[in-house]
Amino acid sequence: MKHITVLKGDGIGPEICLEVVRILDTLKLDLKFDLFEVGEACFEACGELIPSAVYDSIEKNKVVLKAPITTPIGKGFKSLNVQLRNKYQLYANIRPAKSMPNVITPFENIDIVTFRENTEDLYIGEETIIKENEEVHAIKKITRSASEKIIKAAFEYAITNDRKKITCVHKANILKLSDGLFLQIFNEIKVDYPSIEADSMIVDNVCMQLVMHPQRFDIMVMPNLYGDIVSDLTSGLIGGLGLLPSSNLGDDFALFEAVHGSAPDIAGQNKANPTALLLAACLMLDYLAYPKEANQIRDAIDDVLKEGSIRTQDVKGTATTTQFSDAIIARLHV
Ligand code: ATP
Repeated sequence: MKHITVLKGDGIGPEICLEVVRILDTLKLDLKFDLFEVGEACFEACGELIPSAVYDSIEKNKVVLKAPITTPIGKGFKSLNVQLRNKYQLYANIRPAKSMPNVITPFENIDIVTFRENTEDLYIGEETIIKENEEVHAIKKITRSASEKIIKAAFEYAITNDRKKITCVHKANILKLSDGLFLQIFNEIKVDYPSIEADSMIVDNVCMQLVMHPQRFDIMVMPNLYGDIVSDLTSGLIGGLGLLPSSNLGDDFALFEAVHGSAPDIAGQNKANPTALLLAACLMLDYLAYPKEANQIRDAIDDVLKEGSIRTQDVKGTATTTQFSDAIIARLHV
């Protein structure tokens, strides 16, 4: 039996996580979910945001399903998300944004996958105070090895998933050396994939084009910071953060999570939309070679949304998290 490390997280994390595990359990797969408390509540209880038992479990299981974790602001903590991505060398953050049935937005037929480099750029967190309260410098790190990995991952995904085009997103007109290197590596690698159309675009133009002509995008690949921002934009195109899953893949470990944060404004109210984490669980099932079951869940989500009467408040409904999950489970048994 394959064990999965499940991190319950903070804010809406535990609510959506327990519902997703409940849905996965109904499929009766050969999977066992090892649940762990992490984050702020854990820090209060045991003095650590992520206890060592969690790291032991991750190192044993190698596959993680993670609910959002709050990094306490202004207490000197490094982002837990960034720490996990670095510790396990999860260099590829893949965020597929696909229009969902009956979720009305001004945009139709969106199907865009963002490949976000996950281990460097401004997220290395190297900041220096040059003059207190006057001047701070932050380091943007771009390396050939990390850039090659994410760009190759995007092209390989395009081949495997029969996608047609990859756009490299950058700001090389200003950041001539750092983004210049990323773009140069993209142009080197694209030559090895002649069947995939490859172009590049400056990040500010990408933001405008995404809301004017989103259908011109297929796969986008970019450094860490742009990936964080642009993928939130793509979630807006399909109806909001409650719908966007992500996988974080390295050579040895894989972590699946929702793109959204812990949403403290709606925590504990049984209102959160579990779809993003559930779709992340589907990406995990694909990864674990259960594509049929992953598609069963995706079809159940689509059916419930098409039927329309049970939807959470973020997608203009009144259903609770539990009611939505119950509806998914009912569809899985049809
Ligand atoms: P982080 O910095 O950790 O990414 P954030 O400050 O960007 O977090 P989120 O926690 O992602 O914010 O929430 C942004 C908004 O989206 C909030 O108003 C929140 O209620 C809403 N939201 C996020 N996730 C969900 C969800 N699963 N269901 C419903 N609403 C959500």
